[in-house]
Amino acid sequence: MRETHKGSCLCGTVQFQIQATFKKFYFCHCSYCRKGTGSVHGSNLFSFDADFACTNGEESIKSYNVPSTRHRRSFCEDCGAPVPTYDRENNFLVVPAGSLDTPVDAEPTAHLFMGSRANWDNHLEDVTKFEKLPE
Ligand SMILES: [Zn+2]
Ligand SMILES: [Zn+2]
Repeated sequence: MRETHKGSCLCGTVQFQIQATFKKFYFCHCSYCRKGTGSVHGSNLFSFDADFACTNGEESIKSYNVPSTRHRRSFCEDCGAPVPTYDRENNFLVVPAGSLDTPVDAEPTAHLFMGSRANWDNHLEDVTKFEKLPE
């Protein structure tokens, strides 16, 4: 299903619009995604037919390619928040799901690289939950 989205970075400098069919929605636990997010996994949507338009702050998008790998992450140079990586030549778009301001219809596909997960990444769904910051 083709989805229409708006998204932005943490400081609001980078703003973008997407029309895309998300073929995959992966939670990747590899060491690069853990470093790149500072968290338990990356949460990325993948599309090969996207219309991607940066509506503000395109000049603030910086990218980093881990040497000798295909791992690439894009981020706002002002706030450091992850933003989509768009390979215009191959019409390949990777969207950090948390960068979207609109609800995602795509269902998560899978957890990847569970063999590389952090040693504290076990049964996280069983950890105590609070709706807000606890008293
Ligand atoms: Zn920003
Ligand atoms: Zn990864």
